[in-house]
Amino acid sequence: MVPVTCFAGKRVAVFGLGKSGLSAIDALVAGGACVVAWDDNEASRDALGGRLVEVADLREVDFCALDALVLAPGVPLTHPEPHWTVLKARESDLEIIGDTELFVRELAARDTGAKLVAITGTNGKSTTTALIGHVLTSAGREVQIGGNIGTAILSLEPPRDDLVYVVEFSSFQIDLTPGLKPDVAILLNITPDHLDRHGDLEHYAAVKARIFALQGTGDTAIIALDDDVCRTISSTLPPSVDGVSISSESTVLDGFYAAGGQLYRARGGDGSLYADLREIVSLRGDHNGQNAAAAAGAAEALGLERDAITQGFATFPGLSHRMEQVGELDGVLFINDSKATNADAAARALSSFENIYWLAGGLAKSGGIQNLNEFFPKIRRAYLIGDAAEPFAAFMQGAVDCKIVGTVERAVSVAAADAVADGHRPAVVLFSPACASFDQFRNFELRGDAFRNAVHALPGVQKSKGN
Ligand code: ADP
Repeated sequence: MVPVTCFAGKRVAVFGLGKSGLSAIDALVAGGACVVAWDDNEASRDALGGRLVEVADLREVDFCALDALVLAPGVPLTHPEPHWTVLKARESDLEIIGDTELFVRELAARDTGAKLVAITGTNGKSTTTALIGHVLTSAGREVQIGGNIGTAILSLEPPRDDLVYVVEFSSFQIDLTPGLKPDVAILLNITPDHLDRHGDLEHYAAVKARIFALQGTGDTAIIALDDDVCRTISSTLPPSVDGVSISSESTVLDGFYAAGGQLYRARGGDGSLYADLREIVSLRGDHNGQNAAAAAGAAEALGLERDAITQGFATFPGLSHRMEQVGELDGVLFINDSKATNADAAARALSSFENIYWLAGGLAKSGGIQNLNEFFPKIRRAYLIGDAAEPFAAFMQGAVDCKIVGTVERAVSVAAADAVADGHRPAVVLFSPACASFDQFRNFELRGDAFRNAVHALPGVQKSKGN
């Protein structure tokens, strides 16, 4: 845990008692703050257990007598409309921050030489965070991985020399971290997602761009030049930072780019081969070229040599539910990409395979699967589940042979039988839903587990390594 000392003797309210809220409370109390805690959900309040805090409905608390409001990242700061705690705090001129801000303040105050690598983007954050963590760990560096990827940032080990924090930031967390000044900041991509919580693309982009805003001399800014929004942001980087361009779509002048499954390094001109990603199952697909380029840039900025970086790539186990190979039957691969909760993420998976038996559906995002047309010729058949099944089938009519199958289990058994019988090879049963999971599952992890279990229940299937 990172005790937060900058609020010692002060009174701080914490609203939203999930994982990050509870760890903020522990860190604040350990650092000597008085905490007033609240969550409108009684079960969440029960999770406080025996913590030494005042439990009070913040509606009844005088905000003028507080020094800060620590908000959970899930609580709306701006859109669709500011939460009542936000309005009340603004009226009282009370600063609103997140657990991530408590962390960066503590990191700056201790001045230990510990480094912070911050990763954001619409897609690929967790994969890139895990990849950087793995590459650094494999090279013998001391690493703490956390933030949006899982472990709450204040639950990580306290700062010390030689420690590298590799932290995933959602835009909500960036919004609550005005003091964010990473040693290495990474922006992967910006496409419309979560706009319900950000209003419009402009605001969403402005929040993401703040990952670079306080950077200066000695800091590294890594930015992918693969979409218009990121290209615009790259032209506004502080001039004193060390800028590293990355791409999975074209060459770059200074930085790393991926093409044809290979990663290249460019220094002010033509690139030279840096790493061969083609045989690394966990880094399949162009999008992983972007992630690997970002990871190489971060690892070099932290002093790693090319050999150590490429060795780290080769042993990267990958993350569950992100284009994860879970089994094989008669030469047909089964890929769990349950994390593809939007069409853009599904596009990455569809572009990575041939002869696809595509399992999709769930709760559709706005725009549905409109930008996926270009992949339809690669799809042998689609197996549709959940709320989106009928609209998706209607959209693909005439282009893709669709079966509405309702559930993941049924989709797996029908698709497996079809793929084996058709005899096309290579072939893949790809679960990349392009939808949220909430119509049938509590989250994408449980949805992916349902797919994996159904695959493993197929007679004769070979489970993949790590499954
Ligand atoms: P995030 O943490 O940003 O949600 P993940 O690494 O968990 O990202 O990946 C989410 C989904 O996006 C997966 O389906 C994955 O295949 C896809 N994806 C991964 N990296 C990228 C990328 N660089 N660009 C676009 N899509 C990606």
